[in-house]
Amino acid sequence: MGKQRIVVLGGGESGVGSAVLARLKGFDVFLSDKGEIKEEYKQTLNKFDIPYEEKGHTEELILSANEVVKSPGIPENNPLVLLIKQHRIPVISEIEFAGRYDKAKKICITGSNGKTTTTSLIYYMLKNAGLNVGLAGNIGKSYAYQVATENFDYYVIELSSFQLDGMSTFKADIAILTNITPDHLDRYDYKMQNYINAKFRITQNLTQKECFVFCQDDKITAAQLDKIVLTAKKLPFTQKKKVNQGAYIDDNKLFVRYEDDEYSMYLNELALQGKHNIYNSMAAAIAAKAIHIDKKVIRDSLMNFKGVEHRLEKVLTIKGVQYINDSKATNVDSAWYALESMRTPVIWIAGGTDKGNDYSPLYEFVREKVKVLICMGVDNKKLHENFADKVSTIIDVSSAKEAVEKAYEHAVEGDTVLLSPCCASFDLFKNYEDRGEQFKKAVREL
Ligand code: ADP
Repeated sequence: MGKQRIVVLGGGESGVGSAVLARLKGFDVFLSDKGEIKEEYKQTLNKFDIPYEEKGHTEELILSANEVVKSPGIPENNPLVLLIKQHRIPVISEIEFAGRYDKAKKICITGSNGKTTTTSLIYYMLKNAGLNVGLAGNIGKSYAYQVATENFDYYVIELSSFQLDGMSTFKADIAILTNITPDHLDRYDYKMQNYINAKFRITQNLTQKECFVFCQDDKITAAQLDKIVLTAKKLPFTQKKKVNQGAYIDDNKLFVRYEDDEYSMYLNELALQGKHNIYNSMAAAIAAKAIHIDKKVIRDSLMNFKGVEHRLEKVLTIKGVQYINDSKATNVDSAWYALESMRTPVIWIAGGTDKGNDYSPLYEFVREKVKVLICMGVDNKKLHENFADKVSTIIDVSSAKEAVEKAYEHAVEGDTVLLSPCCASFDLFKNYEDRGEQFKKAVREL
């Protein structure tokens, strides 16, 4: 038998990492991308002597594969993917592929919101504990590339539902599901259950030895848990009642219980504020306890973590007005948590590409806290329809600079200017990072 052939679809961070790993493991590798491959990735492919094609797929070169590794950006119903499946060639994700070659302990985080924050916080804790740990998933270098070139004892991995879709044998040691709210339904035939199933793939293969950390206050997660059999150690976190194992709140303190051990600290000591961040801190603290990190390290980490850019990021205070960049809030749920955490009158900058949003969960906070709504989008009709009777002043703008200038005009000492758009950014910006950068630049130039 000749060498096994691995074909990688997609020449971005994930695909190139998979190709490098496959090459180092001795496979016959080929990478194919329908679009153009970035120069830096071409250099990597050349360096590892990996044949590739761009701007189109050659079927013969792909259908000769024993296995195909698909990048998460390519939908399952892509015609080429369907054709590959018709030929009975297994299609797997980068994480599934790389997991086969990785003996490290893996802490994996998925959910609709809070993944990056929780992942970064756990990584920060493990680093502070002096562990030899890698950070992977949607952040930085791909998991596959790190498995190929590093030798970590632990990985903290952020998993999108798209990564989870192509996973069958991969096993996390600690699996964390932050929450489930409707998102990306376009990729799941508009069926919520399909999306829930994808998220719950993080629990597959878990045995009694592994942990499943989840939000008990999340109704969708709780309902799904009632439907399935799960043998993993269940470690819930909740802000509503006490639990024997997991994390809860009592008397303004956060408690974590794991096996016979208990850990607690005051909520006002947490570096990340807001109800949603209490959840994220709880999830991280449970994971840290489960790998027996020292209490002092957990406490110091939760007190000193700086947060992640574009997530309720404090930019500047100017004339007593706090400017906050929450550009990553691309759906209603994340904006809900941002508005929830506001303790002052708010000038709210929202808008962008609407993903079929239902704004009604925000009505009460908007009525109560928002004094000016600045709509920053090409089409602001839906925001006007939803909020015209709840906010006295609504202003339309078409750039971050204009939004910040209008906010400055209307703000008085003690107010907060919050960019938490609830929408995708593609109408006016390259991506949410670009939107956040432009906002911060405009604030700094005031
Ligand atoms: P993800 O990686 O899942 O997109 P992030 O940590 O990047 O999550 O946060 C995305 C947005 O969601 C930010 O606006 C953030 O403030 C908000 N957010 C963070 N954690 C949570 C949570 N646990 N529940 C709801 N919203 C959250």
